[in-house]
Amino acid sequence: MPPPSGAYIGRLAPAPTGSLHIGNARTFLLAWLRARQAGGRILLRLEDLDHPKVKAGAAGELYQDLAWLGLDWDAGPAQALAASHPGSLPAVPDPYVQSENLARYREALEQLYRQGKIYPCVCRRQELQLFQSAPHSEAEQREYRYPGHCRGRFPDLAAARAERSDGKVAWRFRLDSAELTCFQDAFAGYQESRLDAWSGDFLVGRETEAGYQLAVVVDDHQMGISEVVRGDDLLPSTHRQLVIYRALGFSPPRFCHFPLILGPDGRRLAKRHGDSRLSRLREKGVKPERLLGWLAWCSGWNQDWRREVSLAELVATADFSRLPPQPVVVDKNQLAELGF
Ligand code: GLU
Repeated sequence: MPPPSGAYIGRLAPAPTGSLHIGNARTFLLAWLRARQAGGRILLRLEDLDHPKVKAGAAGELYQDLAWLGLDWDAGPAQALAASHPGSLPAVPDPYVQSENLARYREALEQLYRQGKIYPCVCRRQELQLFQSAPHSEAEQREYRYPGHCRGRFPDLAAARAERSDGKVAWRFRLDSAELTCFQDAFAGYQESRLDAWSGDFLVGRETEAGYQLAVVVDDHQMGISEVVRGDDLLPSTHRQLVIYRALGFSPPRFCHFPLILGPDGRRLAKRHGDSRLSRLREKGVKPERLLGWLAWCSGWNQDWRREVSLAELVATADFSRLPPQPVVVDKNQLAELGF
């Protein structure tokens, strides 16, 4: 898997929903290495759409964690830059912070509405509360096919609003029947999906606010991202994003989905598996090269997980064709020895 050629623009897109753990660190490391090996640029975008999972103070902490690991970025939120260059923050909308870019998402929603690509939905489900963040957990991934209850139900928007006591509607993407999406993932290979069969018309927003699926397409397009690198738990989201790209008339970037780091029970690494936060290592004074050595071992780039590895070594030697296609299951003893 050679690094892509041409002008490479990648991104790190953390959500300030909690502390970064070693699973997040691996995905960000891989995204960063793809960009640096290609001699490209990497941008940092804070995905902080206002949803219940966003935590105060998490953004500042995650900038510090990334900096501790040695990852840098060529452009990003003013707050992240201010961490290294203290001073007052400019009072202008920050293009690298989603919550400051609402006007752009609103325009995209209006465009999709004019084109008849979205329709108002007045159904209420827990899903409506969660649509602003990327679906990672098993519960969020669980396949729920929207049966199309509100599709074609209302003669106009006013009729839909009249159904709700708060007058607020959600927006669903109107899939073409038998819509087949396919793409060649740079790591996971050929992917195809019949969205109408397993997801049905999915949520893209509520009133004038966009949800994750739409916001990420608008941002990646506007930032000129050439390759999206992320965990393979987001593969199903990519199919949704591809139909949005098509509807908005944008050409999609290349996608590269890598396997995740899992807990000993084979589930996505989470708090229940114990503390694996980067801030813990940072506070204990552990050298980042130790964690990089372990992350490199997980990726097939370091034979001895105890050997410290520098980022410079990884840029020079990391070979993505040696990366195992299966997820890595953490070993508690190794984590304890690393300092957790
Ligand atoms: N902010 C998203 C997350 O926390 C990442 C989404 C993406 O890479 O598209 O998972």
